[in-house]
Amino acid sequence: MSIKKNILIIPGDGIGPEVTAWGKAVLEETATQFGHDFSFDEALMGHAAIEATGSPLPDETLEKARKSDAILFGAVGHAKYDNDPTLKVRPEQGLLKIRKELGLYANLRPILLFDELLDASSLKPEILQGTDILFFRELTGDVYFGEKKRSEDRNTASDLMIYHRYEVERIAKKAFEAARGRRGKLCSVDKANVLESSRLWREVVQELAKEYPDVETEHMFIDNAAMQLVKNPKKFDVILTANLFGDILTDEASQIAGSMGMLASASIGDGTGFFEPIHGSAHDIAGQNKANPLASILSAALMLDTGFGLKEEAQRINQAIDQVLKEGFRTGDIANAITPPHKVLGTTQMGKKILEFLKHAVIIS
Ligand code: NAD
Repeated sequence: MSIKKNILIIPGDGIGPEVTAWGKAVLEETATQFGHDFSFDEALMGHAAIEATGSPLPDETLEKARKSDAILFGAVGHAKYDNDPTLKVRPEQGLLKIRKELGLYANLRPILLFDELLDASSLKPEILQGTDILFFRELTGDVYFGEKKRSEDRNTASDLMIYHRYEVERIAKKAFEAARGRRGKLCSVDKANVLESSRLWREVVQELAKEYPDVETEHMFIDNAAMQLVKNPKKFDVILTANLFGDILTDEASQIAGSMGMLASASIGDGTGFFEPIHGSAHDIAGQNKANPLASILSAALMLDTGFGLKEEAQRINQAIDQVLKEGFRTGDIANAITPPHKVLGTTQMGKKILEFLKHAVIIS
């Protein structure tokens, strides 16, 4: 059945525009192949928006975001802010604000392991093979939004780690539901031995677990989870955790997939969904045609799947990526020069290759 959707593209900074162009191209190709009506608009955020308007999230962007059905985002950030923490107007403020304004309280991060990339990870293939994890990271609470203080003499600082019951409840429900549709296991990660906000977190998850007797629920401290994730990643199915712990754990888990350039994420609430790679603006490789566009392409697939319920379309994209990797094509970040020798492609060539395989998949299906 043909569907009509308005998609907002926010390319952002650094490698954001380079990779997002391919996420968009794949959505356009999918619309053509399946007869969907996708219309696209574009908006500024981050450093690019500060330069153009003085704000990291201009009102116009927020207005367009609210009107859209889904957003494909690249990344924000610029070296000048990384090197000067005193700058008051900062690119990441745009990202934090849009998440809050759109009520995006859950960040879903699938750790999808393509067999062809087993050797691209720093972990041993036998530890990795069969890993399939879905992270639920809370997005609207924690130290990111709690009160920040600095003493008058500037020598003492604090960030309030704060959670409300409803914030834990709404994301935990989504995570339990997802576990039900997967292998039926949920691991809630906290630091309840030390933090009061974690004790509330654990209490709420324990109460909700009673409504999901078919889901095997486990609670784990963050330090142990960080260790188990590299020791035995296969043991995890759904991992549910708070904003700060999730930020760190998902970057650690990115090594399971071989590269930051291979991981997509979805930020969801009860309205417009926001789909983005987990990587940042990567100034070190920006403008050099070196960025891996696959995380943006996987973000587009996640939009089709969890955002629009178009499972077959999303599957087609994942298959195209799988085929391209099987043929030995790689961007530099996932290439292995030793065995077997890979054909290393730039961002543009990799994007074109995926489109080529996507078109071919239709002809042979
Ligand atoms: P980063 O994710 O940008 O880069 C980390 C490393 O991974 C770099 O060596 C980079 O070259 C590599 N990398 C990242 N994406 C890649 C890709 N698609 N292909 C190949 N290699 C890739 O993180 P960072 O270096 O800590 O931060 C750089 C900037 O990005 C900072 O300004 C930071 O604030 C910002 N940032 C933004 C977001 C976001 O917009 N969601 C997230 C994280 C960091």
